[in-house]
Amino acid sequence: MASYDCDFFVIGGGSGGVRAARMAAGFGARVMVAEERYLGGTCVNVGCIPKKLFVYASRYREEREVAQGYGWTMAEPHFDWPTLVRNKDQEILRLNGVYERLLLNAGCAVLAARATLLDPHTLEVDGRRISAEHILVATGGWPLVPEFPGREFVLTSNEMFHLDALPQRMVVVGGGYIAVEFAGILRGLGCAVTQIYRGPLFLRGFDSEVREFLAAQMRHKGVDLRFDTGVTRIDKTADGLTLTLHDGATLTADGVLYATGRVPMTSALGLEQCGVALDAAGAIRVDAHYRTNVPSIYALGDVTNRVNLTPVALAEGMSLVRRLFGARDQPVDYDYIPTAIFSQPPVGTVGCSEAVARAQFGEIEVYTSTFTPLRYTVSPLKEQAFMKLIVATQTQRVVGLHLCGEDAGEITQGFAVAMRAGATKEIFDTTIGIHPSSAEEFVTMREPTRR
Ligand code: NDP
Repeated sequence: MASYDCDFFVIGGGSGGVRAARMAAGFGARVMVAEERYLGGTCVNVGCIPKKLFVYASRYREEREVAQGYGWTMAEPHFDWPTLVRNKDQEILRLNGVYERLLLNAGCAVLAARATLLDPHTLEVDGRRISAEHILVATGGWPLVPEFPGREFVLTSNEMFHLDALPQRMVVVGGGYIAVEFAGILRGLGCAVTQIYRGPLFLRGFDSEVREFLAAQMRHKGVDLRFDTGVTRIDKTADGLTLTLHDGATLTADGVLYATGRVPMTSALGLEQCGVALDAAGAIRVDAHYRTNVPSIYALGDVTNRVNLTPVALAEGMSLVRRLFGARDQPVDYDYIPTAIFSQPPVGTVGCSEAVARAQFGEIEVYTSTFTPLRYTVSPLKEQAFMKLIVATQTQRVVGLHLCGEDAGEITQGFAVAMRAGATKEIFDTTIGIHPSSAEEFVTMREPTRR
């Protein structure tokens, strides 16, 4: 039997890589992890965590307005961006340390360097050759900005977390999670925000009614949403940045955020040299067991560009490691993955959109409800919530649950358990509500809006 320097070498210390490494070490494997940038990956450093902190920060302006209805008067507010960035950085630094300790305490060797593949069992790290029986590529993704004149002036989500000052007039380009979330954050922090999306309605793939509802709520909060258009060029002018749109109209801004998708980080890793196959989008091709076409090399998480969510990468890492070192084969179940967009208001979704449900199940029943949550009844600031259930008529199983309103992420997580367990509409109907709450609406929708 060949002897290797380690049993499991992980390239990339993000969500998936760290979880896989720690767990493999827990099974007794000799594990090494190489991370050239920051431990914790996108999620911890320039993604989920700092984004959610920014979402919290952005809510206080409206909270103050709501508070007036409850009898509070507060002095004129002042927001200090450097304080937010500094406090956020401190927390991220703490998390970087937590990740490092988790790895070290599990017995992993952590290399703060870039690792490149030399052959299917050998890597080069800092000029040193290391051999490994199994190699996991978990290098994640990176923001993609399309080519166009003036692209050098734009920011991506990576830079948004480290700006010295907050630009007051912001344009956000894109219509996915990141664009929608940042549009809400920036508006909440007091910026004038225009969001530009190339299609007729943003958040393609999500339920259409939810997308329409969110668009209306965002407009109500003052975000200038412009659909069916795009940026032709950007020029630097005395007044900031001038964007020329497809129809020739111009916009002036202090900052332009491009959130037009992310690409898998596969370059200069030695993948070609080892013959690891990529798909047309540049993602590493893997089978159901995260195996690439090279038997000793595996990949998971965003670098495989499938379901690009932190909890999915964690689940994939655990599944792989259980199979390799734990003698247990438990594939990840990709059905009914709940997800939340931390927009304002946030969106929670699990299961099928109405369009997908109709195509997949034929006959469906759709239950919808739009209402003013109790909190906003005595508030001068008005906000509405929208909820939707989709039921497959034949089986009566609830196959889609969608919500746009406060606490959407928190609410959806719990319902996702019920939906994965196959809950029928009757189970929903016979579940006692928690009153008064917004979530109770999901168990009190009696009459279908349409069939
Ligand atoms: P998405 O892929 O979600 O969205 C990209 C957006 O940019 C789409 O609206 C797309 O339009 C548009 N776009 C793509 N190319 C161009 C172009 N050349 N010109 C103009 N517009 C373009 O990417 P994000 O960057 O928003 O997020 C990446 C992933 O990260 C998400 O898919 C998600 O998996 C994950 N994520 C999850 C979050 C969460 O769980 N809350 C938060 C943030 C990110 P079109 O739809 O027409 O293709």
